[in-house]
Amino acid sequence: MIERSLLSMALLLLLSMVSASAQVTAIRAGKLVDPESGQTSSNQVILVEGRTIRAVGSDVAIPAGAKVIDLSSMTVMPGLIDCHTHVCSGVVSRRGLPRKTSRGGQLSYDLGNTTAYRAIQGVANARSMLESGFTTIRDIGNAGNYADVDLRRAITEGLVPGPTMITAGRIIAPFGGQYAPSDRGYAMNPERPGLGAPEYFYADTRDELRKAIRENIFYGAQVIKIVVDDQRYIYDVDDIRFAVEEAHRARVKLAAHCVTEAGARNAATAGVDSIEHGFMMSDSVLALAKQNNVVLVGTDFTREYLQEYGQDAETAGRGYVRSLDRIRRAYRIGVEQAFGSDVIFDVEGKTRGEVCLSILDTYVAAGLPNGYLLRMLTTNGARLLDVDNQRGAIRAGFAADIIATADNPLDRIETLKRVQFVMREGTIIRQ
Ligand SMILES: [Zn+2]
Repeated sequence: MIERSLLSMALLLLLSMVSASAQVTAIRAGKLVDPESGQTSSNQVILVEGRTIRAVGSDVAIPAGAKVIDLSSMTVMPGLIDCHTHVCSGVVSRRGLPRKTSRGGQLSYDLGNTTAYRAIQGVANARSMLESGFTTIRDIGNAGNYADVDLRRAITEGLVPGPTMITAGRIIAPFGGQYAPSDRGYAMNPERPGLGAPEYFYADTRDELRKAIRENIFYGAQVIKIVVDDQRYIYDVDDIRFAVEEAHRARVKLAAHCVTEAGARNAATAGVDSIEHGFMMSDSVLALAKQNNVVLVGTDFTREYLQEYGQDAETAGRGYVRSLDRIRRAYRIGVEQAFGSDVIFDVEGKTRGEVCLSILDTYVAAGLPNGYLLRMLTTNGARLLDVDNQRGAIRAGFAADIIATADNPLDRIETLKRVQFVMREGTIIRQ
């Protein structure tokens, strides 16, 4: 009797030890792409233990009891990174808005939603992006009262599925934020000057800037997003330099929304970490950006998407052609570019993740090499987000953020629009 109970105790102990040690998964990769080097290797084995890649190679032995995932007919690579998302914004398409609406109109629409609803939008959009292959996103503001920070927490705690998030919290901007004078009745109502909060942190003086940056970081911002030039009064070089220094002292990067030539010039001169949009950047501003190691997150919409955004066909066509030209010039001048979708609208029949990936079409149309585009979507983003010591490559010790496609994106980049397999931190999301 005693022996039997000892035996069962030993068995129990053994069982608990097995369940405590992390599950080992072996992925057989027909082809494995390293975006940084642009190399493809064949017949590789990736060993994943828990959340981490343990080993990669053609001669890696698969341990007994390991779960084997056969991707031998596919091309495997690190998960994608979107450096400019607004997952807590605008689940409802322009169909729910007046025609010919603007970003300002969309923002006014957001004002009508509670932070709770914004967080629910975020859950749906984050999951959709992950299912499409984005294992990391930098969510760059417009999340109500820190819905993005709560969403990041919920994802980190495993409450809901989603990509690893870098959050910007509240966007810091000169008075009025991104609200356009055409949006009367909302934040432009002088009797209700506070309506822009919490969506925006209005900061005009240095004291206000410093306080906004510190408060934002305190409540969960991991990157500071400023809007440089959406009003007639814009942040000047000294304003931006002050903000960059304040953010950097707290080891936080600064992203600058710039839609004018003057705004982008100020931001590039001040040495921000990234210029968002930068649609009007001239060659000399692009050269300044390169010189100061500023990354361009271009967010260049397709013609169709510009129309979903509310532009008429002619305006959309002009913006699209301008984007193609700026993408090519940035490439020629050598400014580092990272992928950012900036999607806030739904498109009928497409998931949020699919809409985000459709932005890739603009960069393909601009004629950039596939290897360069894949780096934009992986390694360049990882560096900008300061996660390149654990993400953006399939390497031992890195997070097991792994995707697979039917074709090799170095041959056919469009294959990324139909990702077949997604694993984030060792958990299979799509197979
Ligand atoms: Zn944006």
